[in-house]
Amino acid sequence: IHIHAIGDAAVRQALDAIDEVVRRNGPRDRRPVIAHAQLVDDTDIDRFARLGVIPNMQPLWAQLDSLMTVLTIPRLGQERADRQYRIATLQRSGAALSFGSDWPVSSGAPLDGIAVAVSRRTADGEPEGGWTPQEILPVEQALSAYTAAVAAQAFAENRWGRMYPGAAADLVWLDRDPRRTAPLELPHVGVRATYLQGEPVYEAENGRAAS
Ligand SMILES: [Zn+2]
Repeated sequence: IHIHAIGDAAVRQALDAIDEVVRRNGPRDRRPVIAHAQLVDDTDIDRFARLGVIPNMQPLWAQLDSLMTVLTIPRLGQERADRQYRIATLQRSGAALSFGSDWPVSSGAPLDGIAVAVSRRTADGEPEGGWTPQEILPVEQALSAYTAAVAAQAFAENRWGRMYPGAAADLVWLDRDPRRTAPLELPHVGVRATYLQGEPVYEAENGRAAS
């Protein structure tokens, strides 16, 4: 089950529906997904882990850009606006957080999303210290949400998402270590090569990385 739910009422309806499925048909390894989960009511946070629901979130949107200040906050009101994209809260609740892009409506580049996940700042660095900084995620967890967690979401943790002998070797080779790169620099990290099943499908020209 893969549901896109954005507001707190929609997220609750999605959780209620999944709850009902488990109640009627019994438990099994379903790995249901609620994509976005932009606004989750306090009383629904713990239901993700309890029901085994994966929150698939889009960290790129967790920033104070014009989409947020002009479109979203005036409609939500300040109190609920400050409770959006509770990425770290959901992670700490025990939910199996994963990341995505919702491409093509926004950038499909994971580094763009990771930059915001670890800073909650716009590309211009606003605001200093980050918007709702209690929801900032450590970079290792952001990388894991885009890799191992997505593989598990797809029932493919034994093939994708990590490097080990026998794994699929779908790889991206970066020109810098994102764990040692300043958050605002992350979108400018270059891609040297990408591999599918161990075969190169993209290689930067003249050894120069494309960003
Ligand atoms: Zn969507």
